[in-house]
Amino acid sequence: MVLVPYGGGTNVSGALAIPTSETRMVASVDMRRMNRILQVDEENFQACVQAGISGKQLEIALNERGYTSGHDPDSLEFSTLGGWIATNASGMKKNRYGNIEDIVMEATLVTPTGEVETHHATPRNSTGVQPRSFLFGSEGNLGIITRATIKIHKQPEAQAFGSLVFPSFERGVSYLKALRQTGQVPASIRLVNNTEFHLGQALKPEAKGFKKLQQDILQLFLSKVKGFDPKQLVACTIVMEGTKDEVRQQSKTIFRLAKKYGGISGGAHRGERGYMLTFGIAYIRDFFTQFHILGETFETSVPWTNIHDVIGAVEKKLFVLCEEYGVPGKPFLAYRVTQTYHTGVCIYFTMGFCAQGLEDAVGVYHAIEHQLRQAILDHGGSLSHHHGVGKLRSGFLPQIQSENSIAVLRQMKKAMDPNNIFAIGNGAFAEEQ
Ligand SMILES: Cc1cc2nc3c(=O)[nH]c(=O)nc-3n(C[C@H](O)[C@H](O)[C@H](O)COP(=O)(O)OP(=O)(O)OC[C@H]3O[C@@H](n4cnc5c(N)ncnc54)[C@H](O)[C@@H]3O)c2cc1C
Repeated sequence: MVLVPYGGGTNVSGALAIPTSETRMVASVDMRRMNRILQVDEENFQACVQAGISGKQLEIALNERGYTSGHDPDSLEFSTLGGWIATNASGMKKNRYGNIEDIVMEATLVTPTGEVETHHATPRNSTGVQPRSFLFGSEGNLGIITRATIKIHKQPEAQAFGSLVFPSFERGVSYLKALRQTGQVPASIRLVNNTEFHLGQALKPEAKGFKKLQQDILQLFLSKVKGFDPKQLVACTIVMEGTKDEVRQQSKTIFRLAKKYGGISGGAHRGERGYMLTFGIAYIRDFFTQFHILGETFETSVPWTNIHDVIGAVEKKLFVLCEEYGVPGKPFLAYRVTQTYHTGVCIYFTMGFCAQGLEDAVGVYHAIEHQLRQAILDHGGSLSHHHGVGKLRSGFLPQIQSENSIAVLRQMKKAMDPNNIFAIGNGAFAEEQ
């Protein structure tokens, strides 16, 4: 019998696809009834939580007590704590609360040979190689994550939204880099390119009356007074959280620095709308399929120096490939910088094309995505920033990890799961199927 842990089913890496060569019976272990908060330790700002809890359930329960986990992925509604750990997830407010590996202090993995866990969650440890690291990115290959101790934070005293418009993507990126150096980075700051900016505008309800007037004035000001080209301009959405003082200070730094890079405030309302919009954009893929449009997202993490190379390579390759595969019309490519780090950023692409008349539309989609992924690797991007490896990206692992690293990981799995009960075959364990 094979066991497959199932969280919210929201992964976008083929991680839950059953290997076709598997001949044993496969049972999906639905984790969603393990959704309780077992303990909240308000003195030490931590909570022990069952791994099947969804992001929404976790936040509702913590908010009732005045706390938050701060983990805010676009899939919050359905994805689970266990799934976040198993895929190395990242939330939109990671600047303030951290990525999942910063949020989780300890967790329990139940494997066929016993539990992998460290008792007592303490702030930081120097206890040799730590078993907890096996859980992150385990993608269902090693066992079932049953619970985790996570950091919790008092709900912020103040929250404020903001938005900025820049004349070009290059200027926006330079601004993000400079902002990182100030140490005043808000909980979330995202830079959308011109195409995604226009997609956001198109998805807005039509403005009427005073709102329309305000919109027209802003557009006139940007194009006639500031000389922004509507086909080049880009936008930043900002969420600031913390004490009132912190938010005030961040706001000052953010808007003062933006002026140096030609940025203009677009208002708090646009910032809030832009922040919420990505929850919506995430779901329009299914809506578009009825019009023969196939779309999907993919992400990468890139050093500052390679950002424009990676984007340029993906854009160029997409157009060449669409022509090669006989895709009708022009493909759609939007991108945004979703996360910034001291050393670089996460770039998140949204790609789509019209598949009408294509014989094997899904096959063409995968072939194109695969080759775009190679272009990203060739230009200095990573295999994944937060979507994981699963099946879709496992073939690329030998390009980024040494042969011995992969062999060591496989030996480690044998020690935990000698009969390969967790035979989902993701990432480094794909070939063993
Ligand atoms: C609309 C949308 C928006 C998204 N936005 C984000 C985002 O902002 N940030 C981000 O990081 N990702 C995002 N994702 C990707 C996805 O939500 C994450 O990969 C998420 O962490 C998967 O969690 P899940 O509970 O749905 O896991 P599932 O999809 O159910 O499973 C994923 C893998 O983890 C394993 N697994 C699940 N639960 C357990 C467990 N308890 N023990 C052991 N293994 C387990 C499964 O076997 C599988 O291999 C998004 C996806 C969608 C569809």
